Amino acid sequence: MRMIFIGPPGAGKGTQAARLVDRYAIPHISTGDMFRAAVKNGTPLGKKAAEYMNAGKLVPDEVTIGLVRERIAQDDAKEGFLLDGFPRTVPQAEALKEALAADGVSLDAVLLLEVDDQLIVDRIVGRRSDPETGTIYHLQFNPPPAEIMDRLVHRKDDTEEACRARLDAYHAQTAPLVPFYDAEGLLKRVDGVGKPDQVTERIVAALA
Ligand code: AMP
Repeated sequence: MRMIFIGPPGAGKGTQAARLVDRYAIPHISTGDMFRAAVKNGTPLGKKAAEYMNAGKLVPDEVTIGLVRERIAQDDAKEGFLLDGFPRTVPQAEALKEALAADGVSLDAVLLLEVDDQLIVDRIVGRRSDPETGTIYHLQFNPPPAEIMDRLVHRKDDTEEACRARLDAYHAQTAPLVPFYDAEGLLKRVDGVGKPDQVTERIVAALA
């Protein structure tokens, strides 16, 4: 199964992706996670990406496309993958299509997780993640256990200002992927509002 996940920042892609990869036994490939790891390790890629990420802007296509091409060529992604946060622009989608076609394969589904802008800001500003397990919590909507509170991480780009910039980038640069994949007959729209379990059920139904 080769799938991609699109939707605004804070739509729940990361939370749902973690569940889907278990269910379908495919690797979860998140370009945001890959960039954050590069920033943490202080690599040249991380240094280049950090300035864009902190401003809520997209990292340039040529950097991102190279990173994903290398990742999907690895052994664990040969039979399938779930791409989360990539593609985010039409040139990235075209590059992905080309890379897959060169291997004689293609995408099976594109999931669009739909959530209104006003809910996104509330979700993002309260979001915290556990660096030990990767679990994503929300201070109000999905409260973490009290004993792990001290180790939770608040992403640098999860402020209201960076969130609004990321929403602007989503509408300007990523939303055009919706008609792109609709025209290819791959798009599956899923309502992302509700409890995580309800959203998972909708996704599984959409993929069935
Ligand atoms: P995410 O965790 O998916 O919200 O990504 C966090 C940040 O990483 C984004 O705001 C961008 O700065 C950068 N990023 C992640 N994926 C991409 C992509 N496909 N194209 C460009 N920038 C990206």
